[in-house]
Formats: sequence, C-alpha cells, structure tokens
Amino acid sequence: MLRHTRPKGTQDFIPPVSQQKLLVENTFRDLAVIYGFQEIVTPTFEHTELFIKSSGTGSDIVIKEMYSFQDRSQRSLTLKPEGTPGVIRAVLENRLVLPARLYYITPCFRYSRPQKGRYREFYQLGIEALGEASARTDAELIHFGVRFFSRLNIAGLTVMVNSIGCRTCRQDYREKLLTFLRLNREALCPDCQQRIEVNPLRVLDCKNDHCQTMLQKAPVPREYLCSDCQTHFTIVINELTARQLPYRIDDHLVRGLDYYNRTTFEFVSDKLGAQNSLGGGGRYDYLIEELGGPPTPASGLAIGLERTMLAMPQLEVPTGRRQLVFVIWTSENELRTAVDLTDRLREAGIPAQLSFDSPKLKRQLHLADLADAAFAVIVGEEELKRGVYGLKNLTTGEQIELPAPELISRLKPLLAV
Ligand code: AMP
Repeated sequence: MLRHTRPKGTQDFIPPVSQQKLLVENTFRDLAVIYGFQEIVTPTFEHTELFIKSSGTGSDIVIKEMYSFQDRSQRSLTLKPEGTPGVIRAVLENRLVLPARLYYITPCFRYSRPQKGRYREFYQLGIEALGEASARTDAELIHFGVRFFSRLNIAGLTVMVNSIGCRTCRQDYREKLLTFLRLNREALCPDCQQRIEVNPLRVLDCKNDHCQTMLQKAPVPREYLCSDCQTHFTIVINELTARQLPYRIDDHLVRGLDYYNRTTFEFVSDKLGAQNSLGGGGRYDYLIEELGGPPTPASGLAIGLERTMLAMPQLEVPTGRRQLVFVIWTSENELRTAVDLTDRLREAGIPAQLSFDSPKLKRQLHLADLADAAFAVIVGEEELKRGVYGLKNLTTGEQIELPAPELISRLKPLLAV
C-alpha cells in the first residue's frame, strides 16, 4: 500500500512528460518575446479580496472554486485561481509605466470536479496587453494563440469570437435577457436557475443540452451592441480576415469571469471531449480601474498548459539515448582525473555525469546504462599513461580510443552540442 499519494486533481510531471511541458513553456516564452511581451512573476497566493473584486462574486471561481485559507494571523489568502488579477495588482503596486505587454507562466488552483483536462492545480500561460485600446490588439492576441498552437502542431482548432458589449449596452441587454430567463426559468437546469439572479450572462454558455435548446431563442449580446462596440467588433473581424485567420462567431461565448467587456474569444479543440477549451481571453477595459488604477484599456489571453499537452499530436519522446556522457573511472587513482574531466565537459557545454559511489567498472557501466547516456568516457590507469581515453558508444557498444586533447572536439558533433 502506498503511504503517500498526491492530492486529488493534481499531477506529477515526470520525465519524459516533464520535457514536453518544458517544450510547451519554451515555445510560449519565445513567442511572447517575439510579440514584445516581458515576463512578470507574481505570488502564488494573494489576498482573497483581490479575486473577489476581479473575477466577480457571480463567477464560478469565486462562488465555489477558490482555495482560500486563513494564515496564522487570520488573514484570508487564496491560491491564485487565474493569472490576471495578480498581474494587475502588481502593475499598480509597482507603478509600472503603461502601456506594457506582460506574459506569465503560473500554476493556478481551482477546486472543481477533476476529469480529463480539468485539474485542481494546473498551469496557465498568459499574455496581457495593458493600455492598448484598439480592436486590432484583440485580433493580434488571437493571432498569437493560433501561432502558438500551430508551432506545437496542434490541429483541429477553432477560434470562437464574440462581443459582450460595454457597460452601457450590456445594461440594456441584461434587462432583456433577464426577462427572457425569468419567463423560461422552469426549462433551465438547477445551476442556471441559480445563475439567473447572480450572473445571468453565464446562463448563455451552459453546457446542458436542454438549456442550449431553450437558449436558441434567447436574446444575444451582439443584437444590443452600441455603435462604438459594434465598430470595435467589426474591426476585430476585419483584422482576423486580413490576417487570414478562420474564426466562428459564437453568440453564447461570454466567458466565466465578470471582468470582460467587448471582445471575448476562445480556442476550442475537437480532440478533448468535454473540457475542450485550450485557452481563451478577451478585453477587460474596466478591471484596472476597479482595482484602484486609472481608467486603462486592456486585453489578454490565457492558455491551459495541460490541455495544450493533451491536444498535441503525440508525446514527443526523443528517440535514442539521452545526450549525456557518463564518465567512468577504474580505480580510486583515476577518480580525481575523472572528476576534473567531467567538469571540463560541463564547462564545454556537454551534459556529463559520473558516479562517486562504486569503484567497480561494471557497476558504473550499468549506471551509465540506467541513466540512458549516449556515451561513456573511460578513464583507465593504463590509458592515462598513454594520454588517451576510452570512448564507448552505448547504443552500438562500439569502443574506441581518443587522444585526451581531442575528446571534447570529437564529442561535440556526436552530441549535437
Ligand atoms: P479560463 O479563463 O477559466 O477559461 O481558463 C483559461 C484556460 O485555462 C482554459 O481554456 C483551460 O485551458 C485552462 N484551464 C482552466 N481551468 C482549468 C482546470 N481546472 N484544469 C486544467 N486547465 C484549466
């Protein structure tokens, strides 16, 4: 019986899956930098109020998913359920000059029912364009997402877009929607019946089939956009077209967080079943002001790392042995030379390792095998006298001798360093 198991809804990333995770993160970082974003790192936990204020009291996150706790001084703290609020808090607290383009890679925590693609701890890769008002920024963020998924060879992706209007037009729309929902209350699932008074817009993207059938007749935000919001949405669509990015308008795409306005978008995969959203985002022109800053337009995108990995073609397991050299010593007399050689290999950028634990050649070769090293360099007494090392190819078993000064230059091309 295992004494310790990981908490429900969490995951271990062990090799080689951890390598794949790194590939996704590096792809994201490279792309973010290319688009002019700089990294921001914020704490894993924040004051609970921050999330209540930003994600909104009507959001599922705040109602039932936050990992909140009291610390020993009775402060209420919460593990971040998403990346944006901490970023905005940090920008205001550190008085960053805006506009600013920032990216983050962070673990997030949500207490929800675990299933494929839905975990209690997961990673978000996010970008935030703060201080950018243009609809073209929204389209550029969508382009960023498309490019990111395409760099990871993810196919079967659909871009969904919508506009949920601004403070002015949403008010009007909300009234119309409320009237409709109250009239049809009985036809809705219990969750939606509760949402009617708390967060009516959320009813629109309920996954329940009965709700969706009934909602086909519901008024949708786009029918109520004011002329500025209409123009904004038209520019987003025209810009997507100019960039030759296919998209689908989804009138029911409202996103789960209260802070969005105007553009909302989501990247949906046909490979993931129920949890099919790989990432999403939109405009949030009011959030910075609501958190105490000056009125500042903003637009952002967050991608789920685990779902991205699930949608990737297959685990990219490197074929062949690891690009690693195992240095082997044959007696205590050669240990010093072996340690120094290992260090010189590392200085030259060649991944190298040796075992201090056993002087037995056979044992060390076995360890080299277990480590899956591509090569073993053998430091033997007799060889040292002649100024050579043994170089063993652990894939083919073939062994040759190399003059000591040539070792590094000969290894480099073999290991593609
Ligand atoms: P959201 O802003 O809630 O749509 O989250 C953005 C992205 O994060 C989603 O599109 C998912 O890819 C990912 N995500 C959200 N919640 C979870 C979760 N519980 N487990 C894994 N990934 C998640």
